Amino acid sequence: MLCECPAPIRLNASQPMPGHRAAAALGHPRECLECGETFASTKTDAEFCGDRCRMAFNNRRTKRGAEIYDLFMSLRHDRKTATVLNVFTLVSRLATIYRREDADQRAGRRSWRHASEIIDRRPYLKAKVLQRQPVRQS
Ligand SMILES: [Zn+2]
Repeated sequence: MLCECPAPIRLNASQPMPGHRAAAALGHPRECLECGETFASTKTDAEFCGDRCRMAFNNRRTKRGAEIYDLFMSLRHDRKTATVLNVFTLVSRLATIYRREDADQRAGRRSWRHASEIIDRRPYLKAKVLQRQPVRQS
């Protein structure tokens, strides 16, 4: 008989504790970022129920990201052209199109990670630059 208590977290555990096999096998319930189905994983940071969903999510982000990247870089570093072409409006329009696609094809599920997750991965983005070092010319 298996106990119903939650499985304890054990670091470097190779074998589940006796009586905790079911809980260890099921892992933590998670919601797949792509399909929205609930799945179990022993990883606390699992985002997808499988490779197909992970690839679909990342391929869409890659395609969308490439489109927005070029426009945003123009906006940031080629302001004159971006102003003439009204690039900010275009970037906003693309985001609206993507959100509509999410509504139609993904039952409205969000197709991006939270900004806090990105910031957690790149904490230097929050740093304040007090004085920039000049670029050395060789
Ligand atoms: Zn999935």
